[in-house]
Amino acid sequence: MVSRRGFLHWISAFSISDLVGIDAKALPSKAPSEVPQEQPNGAPAGRPQLECGNSLVRVRISGSSSDFWSLENRASGQIYRFGCPVFPLGGKAVPATLENVRAGSAPERLKNGVTECSFEGALVARPSLSLRMTFRIAPDNAVVRFRYSLENHGAEAIAFEQADGPLTYLSTSLASMSRVKEIRLSDFNSMLHSDTVSEFDIPQRWFAGRLDVAGPILIGEGEDKEALLLAYEHGSQMPDTFLRFDLQPDRAVKLVAVKGNYLPGQAFKVFDTVWMEAAVSRAAGVASQFRAFVRKYMEVDGESRRPYLFYNTWNFQERNKWWNGKGYLTSYNQERMLQEIDIAHRLALEIFVMDTGWHGKTGDWEVDRQRFPDGLKAVKARLDQHGMKLGLWFNPTMAAVSSKILAAHRSCISSWKGKLAEPGDVWGSEVSYPMCLVSEYSDAYADTVIRLARETGARYFVWDAVAQYGCDSPDHWHGTSANSEEDRSNSYAFQLPLQMVRIVEKVKRAYPDVIFDFDITETGRAVGLSFLSAGRYFLINNGPYLVNYDLPHFSETESDNIFFYPGTARTWICRRPLTYDKWIPANLLLTHYFPDDPASSQLVNMASLILGQNGIWGDLPKISEAGVQWIGEVMGRYKQVRQDVAESDPIRTGDVAGVYEVHEKISNGSNRGVVVLFSPTNGRIVYMTEHTPNQSFWATPGTKVSFDRQGHAVLESDMASGAAIGFFGVE
Ligand SMILES: [Zn+2]
Repeated sequence: MVSRRGFLHWISAFSISDLVGIDAKALPSKAPSEVPQEQPNGAPAGRPQLECGNSLVRVRISGSSSDFWSLENRASGQIYRFGCPVFPLGGKAVPATLENVRAGSAPERLKNGVTECSFEGALVARPSLSLRMTFRIAPDNAVVRFRYSLENHGAEAIAFEQADGPLTYLSTSLASMSRVKEIRLSDFNSMLHSDTVSEFDIPQRWFAGRLDVAGPILIGEGEDKEALLLAYEHGSQMPDTFLRFDLQPDRAVKLVAVKGNYLPGQAFKVFDTVWMEAAVSRAAGVASQFRAFVRKYMEVDGESRRPYLFYNTWNFQERNKWWNGKGYLTSYNQERMLQEIDIAHRLALEIFVMDTGWHGKTGDWEVDRQRFPDGLKAVKARLDQHGMKLGLWFNPTMAAVSSKILAAHRSCISSWKGKLAEPGDVWGSEVSYPMCLVSEYSDAYADTVIRLARETGARYFVWDAVAQYGCDSPDHWHGTSANSEEDRSNSYAFQLPLQMVRIVEKVKRAYPDVIFDFDITETGRAVGLSFLSAGRYFLINNGPYLVNYDLPHFSETESDNIFFYPGTARTWICRRPLTYDKWIPANLLLTHYFPDDPASSQLVNMASLILGQNGIWGDLPKISEAGVQWIGEVMGRYKQVRQDVAESDPIRTGDVAGVYEVHEKISNGSNRGVVVLFSPTNGRIVYMTEHTPNQSFWATPGTKVSFDRQGHAVLESDMASGAAIGFFGVE
C-alpha cells in the first residue's frame, strides 16, 4: 500500500535539499543512517511511503535532480541513485525535478504477479507539466521495469524543440564500478544470416573519450561483485539505434534519445517514454535475474512464454518450388493440411502454423475459399481433435488493391518523399499497397486479427516483412508538413516497434491467450527488448544465402538458400544464436529444425530443438514411419522437462560445430532438464554436469550415464551418430 498523504511532512524530516547535488563519484553508498528503521509490517516509521519493492530490491522516490529515485539492493544495503529525465522543451533543456511528489493510484497487482505502483509530481521548472513515474516490480526478481509520462495540464501548448542537450531519460554514476559491459541484442551476423547477441567490455578510455554505446543492456560490476543493470525497451538493428548510453569521463552514463523519439515543434498532452529496466544483483546472477524477468514478468499474459512445440508449412512450400518444380502454393490445400496435421500430431507438435497461402486478399485477410471451401473449419476441427492450436501468417503492412480495408483507409497507404508507395506482389495473392502501421491502420489491422481469432479459432500469428523504415507521410501519426521528411521517417521508425506492441496488446485484450511472433529473419527489422514485452521473435529462416558466401547461382532453378538440406550443417547455423539464451529464453526465439530421414539427421536436429528453439518444418508425409515414431517419442520425453529447460540458464562447453560441443540445461529449481552432446567426428566424449540432476534419466543409444558421489551426472558417448541426448527427471 502506498500512501497519498504528506510528502512535505517527510521532506521536513529528510530535507530534499540534502539530496540535491550529491557528488556522483560518491555513489553508490550505503543506506543513509537517517532512514528510519522498518516497522514489523514493513512500513518505515515516521514518513509516508514514497517507495515500493520486494525482498530483493527497493525503489525510493525523491524527485530531486541527482537523486530522482534510487534503487537499493536489500541484501547488501547498497543504494544506486538515478538522475531526473531532462526534456528539450521550447528550445530549453528542462530537468524534470519534481515538487510535491505523491503516490499515484493504489498499487495494482497484474495477472503475472507483478505489482505496479506510480508516483507523480509537478515539474519545478514548469508547474503546468507533471511527471508520472510507473514502476513494475515482480514478487521475486531483482529487475525493476519503469517508465515516465510527461503530461501538460495547462492551457498553453508545449512542444518538444531541440535544446542544448538531447532528451535524457536516465542518468547515473558508474564511478564505483570497476567493470562495465554492453550487451547488444541486434548485431546481424552475415555468416549466420541471423541476429546475434554480443557482449563487450567498455574500457575507461571510452568514458574518457566521451564515446557512446547502444546497449540496450548496460551492466556495471563493482569490486564487491555486485552488479547494476540498466536497459531500455526499443528495437532496431545495429548500428542504427534510436536510444544510446552516453559515457562521460567521471564514469557517469546517460540514456539519451538519438532520433525520432519526439516530433520537434509538435505540441503534446501526454508524452510516454519507452519502458526501461534497472536491477541490482550479485554480478554472477545478473544475467539469470534478467532472463527470469524476460521469461516471467516482462509480459503480462504469459501464453507467449510457454514452451510450445511448433510446426510451420513454409519449408515445404519452399521445397515444393525448388526441389519439386512446383509453386509455393501448388499443394496448399485442405487435403495436404489435414495430412500434415495428423503427422505433426504424431510428432507431438502443438501449434500448427499455416504460412502464406491460407488467405485471399491481404488486408481483408479472409480465408481463401478455393483452397479451403469451408473457411478452415475442417482444419480447425482436426486440430481440435488432436488438442492442437491453429497459427496464421501475415504481412500486416499489406492491403490488396481491391480490399475493403484499403477502401476504408486509403489515407493510410505508406508514402515516401511525397509519392504514394507502389502496390506490389505478396507471394502470388492480389497486388497490395504497403500500409502504414503508425497510423489509424494499426487499429483496423488489430480489429481484423480479432475477427480472425473469433472466426477461425487461430491463437498464434506470425508477422513477416515488417521493415523498420517505410513511411514519411505528413498525414499519419509520425509528423506533419511542419516536420522534415527525415524527422517524419525517423518518427515512423522509432514508433513502429512500439505500435507493434500496441497492436498485440489490443488483440490480447480480446483474446489473452494469443501468441504473436515477429519474423526477424532478414536485416532492417526492429530487434530489441520492446517486442518481447508483448510477443516473441521468429529468429532464423534458412540461414545464409548463396550471396552471403560469395557463391554464384548455377541455375535458374536453384534456391538462394545454402542451408536448406537435412543433415548436420544447418543445425550449426541454428544453434549458434543460442548464446541469446543467457539473456532471453531460447523458446522466445523460434527456430525450425528438420525432421527428415536419415535417423542421424533426425537425431542431430531433434537434439538441437530440445535446447529450446522448439520448431519443426519440412516435408512431413515423406518422413519414414520409424522416423515419425522416434521423433514422437523423443518429443514426448522432452515435453516432460521442457518447462524445466525453459527455466534453465544455459551452460555451454566448446564451440558450436566443434569436436566437443556440450549444452547443459538443468533447472536450478527442479534439477530436471537435458544435456546434449554434439560432435561431428566419431570418438568417445565425456561430460560431467555442473548440476546434480534428478537421476531418473533417459539417454540415446550409445550414451552411458552414471552419477558421482555428489550426484553430478557423467555422460559418456561414442558419438557415432553426431549427437547424444540425456533427459533428467523423465519417466
Ligand atoms: Zn505513415
